Amino acid sequence: MTTFEHAMLGVNGALASGLQHRYGWRVAAFAGLAAITPDWDGLTIVGGMQLFDQAHRAWGHSFASCLLVAVLLVAFDTRFDLMGWGRRTLERLLDSKDKRIDPRPEPSALRCAVWFWVAVLAMLSHLAADLVYSGAEGLSDWELKLLWPFSQQGFVYPMVRWGDVGVTLIFVAGIFAMLRWRRHVRAIACGTLGCTIVYIAGRGGLNAAL
Ligand SMILES: [Zn+2]
Repeated sequence: MTTFEHAMLGVNGALASGLQHRYGWRVAAFAGLAAITPDWDGLTIVGGMQLFDQAHRAWGHSFASCLLVAVLLVAFDTRFDLMGWGRRTLERLLDSKDKRIDPRPEPSALRCAVWFWVAVLAMLSHLAADLVYSGAEGLSDWELKLLWPFSQQGFVYPMVRWGDVGVTLIFVAGIFAMLRWRRHVRAIACGTLGCTIVYIAGRGGLNAAL
């Protein structure tokens, strides 16, 4: 999956849970951010191909690192209001006229716990998607080292080729539907996720039959 699709998977998961009714837009944005973070290990390419080969789909794509990154994300968002900063930055860049005062939420143990599990589940959605989205024309499948650093065993269950645009179109349709029927965001997010699962299963079945 691409970064856009991973982010939308996280956002739709948060919206489908209904948490936005209590925590507002921030929880959906936070889930979207968390859902793309496992790909941080791709940045190791700046250290050379040898390091990239060793780190990519291992350092950021393991259960242990997801738990650690979830703690860091919650700590940074609680301390520095990452979501509020992101929104203000976006509004400045877009020169938005909509400058509503959006008070920073009060930190609490319950909010941190909810944020932590939102981050963990969003990152697990990333790992699940990477397990079934793999390979490309002329390239072999990409294994995930889910148990790193305790084991180097690789996992992959390829069903859809990387770069397939089917799920992208489903997410884009979901965005337009949410903009059109704003009162039904939760139902649309559930429908979007349902269509995504059906598409991946169908694509996998089709690929297996060919
Ligand atoms: Zn990934």
